Amino acid sequence: MATSPPKSKPKQPENKPLSGQEKPYLPYSQVLREKFGCKVYKVTLDAGFTCPNRDGSKGVGGCTFCDTTGSSSRAQNRRDSLTEQIQKNIDRMRARFGADKFVPYFQSFTNTYAPPDRLKRLYDEALSAHDDVIGLAISTRPDCVDEAKLDLIATYKRPDGYLCVEYGMQTIHDKSLALVNRCETYADFRHAFELTRARGIDQCVHVILGMPGETHADMMATARALSDLKPEGVKIHCLCAMEHTPLARLYERGQWQPLAQADYVALVTDFLEHLDPAIAIHRITGNGHRKALVAPRWLTKKFEVLEQVEATFAARQTRQGSALQDSPRKAPPHD
Ligand code: SF4
Repeated sequence: MATSPPKSKPKQPENKPLSGQEKPYLPYSQVLREKFGCKVYKVTLDAGFTCPNRDGSKGVGGCTFCDTTGSSSRAQNRRDSLTEQIQKNIDRMRARFGADKFVPYFQSFTNTYAPPDRLKRLYDEALSAHDDVIGLAISTRPDCVDEAKLDLIATYKRPDGYLCVEYGMQTIHDKSLALVNRCETYADFRHAFELTRARGIDQCVHVILGMPGETHADMMATARALSDLKPEGVKIHCLCAMEHTPLARLYERGQWQPLAQADYVALVTDFLEHLDPAIAIHRITGNGHRKALVAPRWLTKKFEVLEQVEATFAARQTRQGSALQDSPRKAPPHD
C-alpha cells in the first residue's frame, strides 16, 4: 500500500537545483548516500558478452532500439580488461565528480549470458579490481537468469556492500515488446523477479516510455504494476533511436515519431505519480551517446528535462506516488 506523500509544494530557490531530499521523487543518489555516507558512482563495463536476441538463440538483429554497443554508455573500451576498464573509469569519476566509492556496472549487452563459472570469474575480477569497489550492478534480460546464476549472484551479498540486478523489463505489455523485437515477455520478467526476490537481491527495473502503440493508460498500468511489485529501484528511459538501428531507419522513413520533450516531461511526471514512493528512481531521462543519438535530439538536454519535471511537480503540487491515493488500484490488462 502506498504511503501518503505530502501535497506541499517543494521549495526551489531560483537557479539552484533541488537537493535529493527536496526532490519530488526519491532519487537513487540519496539512497546511496544515506546507506554509504559518501558519494558512490557506478563505473560502466563492457565484459565482452553478446545477447540471445542477437546471436539467434532467441532472435536476430536485437531490439529495434539497441545499437551495436549493446545499449552501453560507451564510456569503456571493449579491448581493455575488466580491471583496466574499472581503474580508468574510477580515475575519471574521481577527478570529475569527487566520487569516493565505486560499483562496477556490467552494462553492455546481456551480463548473465554465460555459464556460472565464467560469470564468477568476471564478477570476482570486478570486485577485486580496486580497493574502493563496494559491490556489483549487473544488467541483464529477465530470460537470461536461472536458479544457478542467481544463487551465484546472491553469494556477493554483503551487509555493508552493494548488489543489484538490473532487468530490462521495458513495459508490462507483450504487444509492445513484440513491436520492438524484444523476444521475451512480461511473464519472463515476473519469473526472474520472483527468483531474484526469493534470494534477497536488490532489483532495478528498466522501463521505456513511448513504446510503439502504447497509450497513456498502458504506461500508467506499467507504473501501477511496478508499485505492486515494489522493486528497490526503477530506471526510466524515453524510447530513442541511435544511429544504425532499426528504429533509426523507421524514423528516417517517417514511420516512427519520438515523443516531444513537453510530452515526455508530462508523461514521466504522470508515471512517477503512479509509482510507489518507496521505489528509488535511478534515472528519469536516458541520455544515449550524444554523437550517436538520432532522435529525439532533445534527450541531450538532460538537465533541462530534469528541471522541467521538477517544475511540473511543483506546479501540480504532487510528488512520487500521489496518484495512488487518488484512484482505486486496477489490475493491469492482460495482453
Ligand atoms: S536485450 Fe539488451 S542487449 Fe539484447 S538486443 Fe535488446 S537491448 Fe540489446
